[in-house]
Amino acid sequence: MEVKIGLEIHLQLKTRSKMFCRCKNDYDVQDEPNTNICPVCLGYPGTLPVTNRRAVEYAIRLARVLHSEINPDPVFYRKNYFYPDLPKGYQITQYNEAAIAQGGYLPLDFRNRDKRVRIRRLSLEEDTARSIQTDEGEVLLDFNRAGIPLIEIVTEPDMHTVEDVKRFLENLRLVVQLMEISDADMEKGQFRVDINVSVGGGERVEIKNVNSIRDVVEALKYEINRQKEEIRKGRPIEQHTRRWDDYEKRTIPMRRKETEDDYRYFPEPDIPVLSIAPLMQEVESGDLDDPFALFDEMASRASPGEKGYDNYLNNLEILMRDRNRDAIRFFRDAIGDGEVDPILASKWMVNQVRNMDRLPPLDQFRKLMIMVQKEKLPAHRVKEFLRRIIEGAVLEELLKEVESGPSDEELEVIVRAVIAEHPDEFERLKGGKMGLIGFFIGRVKKKNPQADPGKVRLIIEKIMKE
Ligand SMILES: [Zn+2]
Repeated sequence: MEVKIGLEIHLQLKTRSKMFCRCKNDYDVQDEPNTNICPVCLGYPGTLPVTNRRAVEYAIRLARVLHSEINPDPVFYRKNYFYPDLPKGYQITQYNEAAIAQGGYLPLDFRNRDKRVRIRRLSLEEDTARSIQTDEGEVLLDFNRAGIPLIEIVTEPDMHTVEDVKRFLENLRLVVQLMEISDADMEKGQFRVDINVSVGGGERVEIKNVNSIRDVVEALKYEINRQKEEIRKGRPIEQHTRRWDDYEKRTIPMRRKETEDDYRYFPEPDIPVLSIAPLMQEVESGDLDDPFALFDEMASRASPGEKGYDNYLNNLEILMRDRNRDAIRFFRDAIGDGEVDPILASKWMVNQVRNMDRLPPLDQFRKLMIMVQKEKLPAHRVKEFLRRIIEGAVLEELLKEVESGPSDEELEVIVRAVIAEHPDEFERLKGGKMGLIGFFIGRVKKKNPQADPGKVRLIIEKIMKE
């Protein structure tokens, strides 16, 4: 039985003020309830909403990343329904073709771009109030959330497995976090997911109230099995809405799904049609807006025939999925001019630099990598140098250390290691076969060509007396 899954995502935007008024947007740290409110977001009669320009800019940028067609004249609509979290009796939202963008897609996979999910529509709208159920059965309302800017993203039902859905959500979250238009923290309600799922060509069932990617996975697994089971028993699936019960780990029917007619959409008379063509010209995309394009650009620095290319792509993906904006920029700049070998640099970036507290100075990292390419420093020295340039050391000084040979302490460590590797020869040396001292000096120089033979001899003689 074929499974078709589509998603509706509500994304809270990281703007300073709300969608249609100048109240503070407390999307991140929630303020004292009902402190960021005004007549506009409380829906008093006679007030006039004014559209948040920054929210429109964010929508334009996101639409570009999703390859959507931007509507130069988007219209806001009133979606009428009564609910305590909506004092106006309607939500200002967008509707069908009048929304800010249509179409487009998001890739599911960095490595295989044929796997993609089509986007149906991108809309701007306002959030409703927070409603909090108390243990006593009361419902408390916090209007600080009323009017927070949202982007609604509706996908086509292009996902067929739980894995597809997980990938889509992770990729979308990656995009908006790198763009810095939302923190997309699901537990804070900044990134809310409704799932539409149908099995075997049946009616679609909507699942609401899913608060983490883990819950999305569990809810879907449960719901797909439930629908398959129903169909096997000969009970057709009717279109309806369910909610995910995180405690009981099952989906529970809520209500018959409202149809669009129930909402009596009509154009919001208080907001003129937006003419955003000039804004579209003006809004510049951020340099990290499209992680897939950035991945391609960095991938093109190496060629598929090269040794280590496949690992390089893996390393690039790890770097992107870390969502560390500074680290991504750092690596992009490090390999930017072709002087640094991207494959080599990516290994050090992902295996070492990524796990350090800070990034090294860019020019020092680049010099070090170029040196590794040319002179083949032993790995333990590269690690040490990375650590020391992060701590503020200058590579040129560290190099002088290398040229002047190992310190006495380092040399002794090497000598002892060589002796441990050749216990029989050492016993014979101690027994008086002094010619073997040349054998030991040779072994030490193999480990460190800068070792001074005179010093090595003194250290060996010292150890012999122990
Ligand atoms: Zn307000």
